[in-house]
Amino acid sequence: MVKRIGIIGAGTAGLQLGLYLLQNGVEAKLFTDRRPEEYAGMRLLNTVAHHHVTVEREDLLGCNHWPSDQYGYFGHYYYVGTPQPLEFYGNLEKPSRAVDYRIYQPRLLEDFIARGGQVEYAPVAHEDLSTISEQFDLLVVCTGKGPFGQMFSPVPESSPFDRPQRALCVGLFKGIREPETRAVTMFFSPGAGEMIEIPTLSFGGMVNALVMENHVGGDLEILAKTKYDDDPKAFIALLLEKLRKHYPTCAARINEDEFDLANGPLDILQGGVTPTVRNSYARLDNGRLAVALGDVQAVVDPVLGQGANMASYAALVLGQAIVAEDVFDERFMEKVDAARKDRVLCATRWTNYMLDGLGNLSPDLLNFIGAISQNPPLVDEFTENFNYPEKQWDCFSSAERTQAWVATRLASSTVDPQVAAAE
Ligand SMILES: Cc1cc2nc3c(=O)[nH]c(=O)nc-3n(C[C@H](O)[C@H](O)[C@H](O)COP(=O)(O)OP(=O)(O)OC[C@H]3O[C@@H](n4cnc5c(N)ncnc54)[C@H](O)[C@@H]3O)c2cc1C
Repeated sequence: MVKRIGIIGAGTAGLQLGLYLLQNGVEAKLFTDRRPEEYAGMRLLNTVAHHHVTVEREDLLGCNHWPSDQYGYFGHYYYVGTPQPLEFYGNLEKPSRAVDYRIYQPRLLEDFIARGGQVEYAPVAHEDLSTISEQFDLLVVCTGKGPFGQMFSPVPESSPFDRPQRALCVGLFKGIREPETRAVTMFFSPGAGEMIEIPTLSFGGMVNALVMENHVGGDLEILAKTKYDDDPKAFIALLLEKLRKHYPTCAARINEDEFDLANGPLDILQGGVTPTVRNSYARLDNGRLAVALGDVQAVVDPVLGQGANMASYAALVLGQAIVAEDVFDERFMEKVDAARKDRVLCATRWTNYMLDGLGNLSPDLLNFIGAISQNPPLVDEFTENFNYPEKQWDCFSSAERTQAWVATRLASSTVDPQVAAAE
């Protein structure tokens, strides 16, 4: 018998799960509050970079409409604003890519419909879930908005914060020249904030996302509190002043006559994210189980670009389990949880570690940054491992591990190349 799966929410988690299920002979129905044609007129949703492991999943799903040789980026530049600034570059093994989600999500929704997926357009209310679940073998919840988030209780040991750790100001901008190689640039301004610059495909072509992660109470926090709409010129002047002071190598690439939001006033977002990990599943009023996927299960601050990438990973893990299993009971949930846990938990832990370490200038983290800045193979490995948060957590989960990670690699890099070639 063909299995039937209901999916609440058509973000990256719901869409990629839906496409995987259709590809594998499972009937899937998406419930969403947005039609494809509504996205173009919406405020910026986020500024998401898909690491190349996620792009490879899109290739498998047949939904990579934005080839990396045209739209991808090839590595990370790093700028650390210490008294003697550090600047270095790390390569990715394959290109990663960022597409404005107001383009990406409706396109995948259209793919889903074209492949025979069913869609119901209406906001789902929490009290509808039991009734909806009766139509399906399994219900997957892929939105954490309002009561949906509260259905899945937080896991306290993995949710150390009760408030956002950064005051975010995020926008898509025109007028910033690309650096020599198309790449993400991660800027660190000790004591004030971090900024991630991401080459992004938006409506008019390639633009730059600036993800400003401002420390609460610091010099940059004002960027999260000043409204562009109140006085666009004054906002841009303030932003330029802060960029010159904290992120001068970005400011140096800006043409101030052109610099502005790329597509108009909807291209900016301000606010914050409280990092939270929640239980993987919940029991509905009718006794059936619903499984959590994406941000509703684990939401992270965007500083390391992990949220959608782990949602995509978890969607495929869940999809594979749905295809492989016939009974969606607690044992099913336990197996899904075990299969996705390492990636999801390590992404959250590593992100929380970096928020804390960059905020408090952790000596272990600063020593690590100092060491990789002098050693291209190390910075390449660190950069590539943005794809694999569990490898990053292998490095950062204790000071001993961080020191050993650096020491082992430095020791092996001193091997005489002639001896190595003869082995
Ligand atoms: C500024 C910013 C930058 C980011 N940068 C990155 C990055 O570089 N890399 C990365 O991997 N992640 C990044 N993220 C995180 C990423 O955006 C999320 O992790 C990801 O989009 C979560 O996908 P999702 O499918 O779980 O949820 P969502 O994308 O939130 O999808 C939820 C869906 O449910 C629908 N919905 C909501 N309520 C209802 C309802 N009542 N009834 C029906 N449908 C409903 C919504 O319309 C939406 O389609 C960033 C986030 C932010 C805020």
